[in-house]
Amino acid sequence: MNRKQALAQSRASLTDHNIDDASIEAELLLRHALQISRAELFTELTCELSPEQEKTFQQLVKRRLAGEPSAYITGHREFYGNDFYVNSAVLIPRPESELLVDKAIELARKRAIAAIADIGTGCGAIAVSLALNLPETTVYATDISAAALKVAGVNIQRHGLTGRVRLLRGNMLAPLPKPVDLIVANLPYVKESELPPTGEPPLALNGGMDGLDKIARLCGELNGKLTPRGSVLLEIGQGQGEAVVSLLRRCLPSAQIEVSTDLGGIDRVVSLHLTVNFTNC
Ligand code: GLN
Repeated sequence: MNRKQALAQSRASLTDHNIDDASIEAELLLRHALQISRAELFTELTCELSPEQEKTFQQLVKRRLAGEPSAYITGHREFYGNDFYVNSAVLIPRPESELLVDKAIELARKRAIAAIADIGTGCGAIAVSLALNLPETTVYATDISAAALKVAGVNIQRHGLTGRVRLLRGNMLAPLPKPVDLIVANLPYVKESELPPTGEPPLALNGGMDGLDKIARLCGELNGKLTPRGSVLLEIGQGQGEAVVSLLRRCLPSAQIEVSTDLGGIDRVVSLHLTVNFTNC
């Protein structure tokens, strides 16, 4: 079997199993089995697979057909133009979370931002993307999961950011050593009844009955964790904008708060900027 035939065959099986983006997935798996780049794959499409390569590839396709996400099979996912190591201890970075990074970078052009905290960092994709794009900042990346912090550690090292992105284990804002200028978080916000069957850790997705348990908890812990003109950027899900704005408004009545939608028109990021110090909530 040559590479072209291998692609066609696996694309057909993936399609039969209702897997979206079957062409992309087949290509990712074949490149992983052969350990080759995209360019190498497509310039030598008629190259024959060895029996071992064929076996390896079939095994990868089998895992994908059984429901394992391709990012876990290959150990990679691209986010904000960079490659990240992922495993089943962490949420697979989503393209829509790039809006959170965009918003943070945009803010850093307008306000002095020296210290950032990424709460619930998972594989570290957001923390690393911010540190790469904002070279003057220090980023504290926290997570309650030791296994997730291990993954984030690999990514921090891979991107040469040891020392600039500091990993802290703990719940929500508790591990922060000092107030920061910006808090970003892609906390779990999926309703417990709507968790996707992706094999991703529920700890990274489950936001309780209404999806807002974790976000509400973070809002309640903000006091003393932001510098006087500090900001918060939270990723949210469909239809959660209004509820999150009122949660934040209750804690910080005088802050400036807005909701931004993603390319699909879905509420995706809530931004909060302190104007004066806030009241206790
Ligand atoms: N965007 C993810 C999803 O829809 C959820 C991520 C999260 O809970 N933070 O599956």
